[in-house]
Amino acid sequence: PTTVLWLRRDLRLHDHPALVEAARDGAEVVPLFVLDPGLLKPSGPARTAFLLRSLRALDDDLRAHGGRLVVRHGRPEDVVPAVAGEVGAAAAHVSEDFGPYGRVRDERVCAALAAQDPSVPMVATGSPYAVAPGRVTTKSGGHYQVFGPFYRAWTEHGWRAPADSDPSTVAWRTARSDDLPDEPASARDVRLPEPGEEAAHAAWHAFRDRIADYPADRERPGVDGTSRMSAYLKLGTVHVRTLLADLGHDDGSDTFRRELAWREFYAAVLAARPESARDYLHPQLEAMPYATGRTLEKRLQAWERGETGYPIVDAGMRQLLAEGWMHNRVRMIVASFLVKDLHVEWTHGARHFMRHLVDGDLASNQHNWQWVAGCGTDAAPFFRIFNPTTQGRKFDPEGAYVRRWVRELADVEGRHVHDPWELPEQPEGYPEPIVDHATERAASLTAYEALRR
Ligand code: FAD
Repeated sequence: PTTVLWLRRDLRLHDHPALVEAARDGAEVVPLFVLDPGLLKPSGPARTAFLLRSLRALDDDLRAHGGRLVVRHGRPEDVVPAVAGEVGAAAAHVSEDFGPYGRVRDERVCAALAAQDPSVPMVATGSPYAVAPGRVTTKSGGHYQVFGPFYRAWTEHGWRAPADSDPSTVAWRTARSDDLPDEPASARDVRLPEPGEEAAHAAWHAFRDRIADYPADRERPGVDGTSRMSAYLKLGTVHVRTLLADLGHDDGSDTFRRELAWREFYAAVLAARPESARDYLHPQLEAMPYATGRTLEKRLQAWERGETGYPIVDAGMRQLLAEGWMHNRVRMIVASFLVKDLHVEWTHGARHFMRHLVDGDLASNQHNWQWVAGCGTDAAPFFRIFNPTTQGRKFDPEGAYVRRWVRELADVEGRHVHDPWELPEQPEGYPEPIVDHATERAASLTAYEALRR
């Protein structure tokens, strides 16, 4: 028999449960990727470029095993049945997608396949997660709203060992393929991670060798102390179970496992409540007096470009544009600044992040934004407002991060790199603070108190 392996967020050949199923009983496997305009639209140039590079790397890996990636432009509900029909496939295999768009899309594809030939099913095996969303439930069968108890239940539930998929034993089959489009020209200046499964494994092994430093270094944006696995996990270039299987029970491993669990937690929340990607879980915060009109435009632009006059904020926003990635601590600082100092609704910031982050992921992005904005499930309380200057001093004590990303401050010595307005002379070309933190903090708290009454 022949099967179609429709790849989505699983752009790898090892530890691939759906590939194991597709290749069962010696079936010939047609690996397919659909360039779906519905999925590409919200993606900015860097994310699109990274996806295209990852697809090329996957194609190279397939060629090394005698196969070839079949790429087709179009709507999945048209393309998947068409390819299945062309090759006479007995089934289309996928890894399950739990996102709101993916679910509806997959229902449409299932229906289209069935309409064409009721004997050709779509078979879902595995997911992008160690534990599929929906599996870890509270005693009453609901989903967890708070991370701590979820984490305990998730750990207790446990996960399978990596799947034993061996691309060298698969009978790969091909079909007509469209060319991959050229990368967007504006992505050329973005320093993207090395694409592909081999690169993901190499980056992982390099990180694993220094995982003992992770608990201490992970909060230091000036030190490259985190794994940078997020973009690979996003596209499934490596499966999270592969990482989990490599961890021990040392401090570094424990801390890292907990971080991976946040990704699983937010995916589970999104699967249980698809509307949580948009809706406030604390609806009263929707009525905050947010900036509008020209003020909104001006503030949002300064924030997006990294021209707010707050060094740690500007460094983060510039790193995002330069690398398609930002350090987690700084993501929290810039998000808090946008919502609580600039009074811009979190949805604007979340949209900018989704456009530019190569790890941009609906569940992790929207829920982390809501965590910072104080309106999500298990959110930080609204009244906890980051002071960008003290955050900078605490987490970037030498100013290495700021100096690397804010060229106007590269020569500022000492602690004033985090409050350059205190220098006898403002560094040339660097903007004055767009707002006064103490004033805006007070305004946010007053507005919040008024809403609570
Ligand atoms: P590491 O510290 O090495 O962590 C390992 C892995 O754990 C990450 O790759 C990620 O998969 C997971 N992880 C760590 N922290 C979190 C977290 N808070 N929430 C969910 N998963 C986590 N992460 C995304 O993958 N996509 C996003 O779109 C995204 N948007 C964010 C938006 C905001 C406002 C904030 C505050 C955080 C966001 N994060 C997002 C979470 C986190 O910042 C990134 O996962 C992390 O910075 C990625 O770098 P790393 O792989 O080196 O992290």
